[in-house]
Amino acid sequence: MKRGAEKTFMAEGYCVKCKAKKEIVDGVEEVMKNGRKAIKGKCPTCGTVMFKILGGKATPPAPAAPANPTNPPATT
Ligand SMILES: [Zn+2]
Repeated sequence: MKRGAEKTFMAEGYCVKCKAKKEIVDGVEEVMKNGRKAIKGKCPTCGTVMFKILGGKATPPAPAAPANPTNPPATT
């Protein structure tokens, strides 16, 4: 009886067979060719391989909202 022997990642993915969101079991982190991280695992119900893309960076690229520092003061 060993538990927690392997590093697994809890993640949710969409199973195309069950057509439902499932918790990915036996998920292992993988780095794809483009440098993005993904979790590859299995569906707990049917065993179909599931893949969840995490994205390469820890923080997602926020849309650069241009702040308007040169706001013209309301003149009368
Ligand atoms: Zn499934």
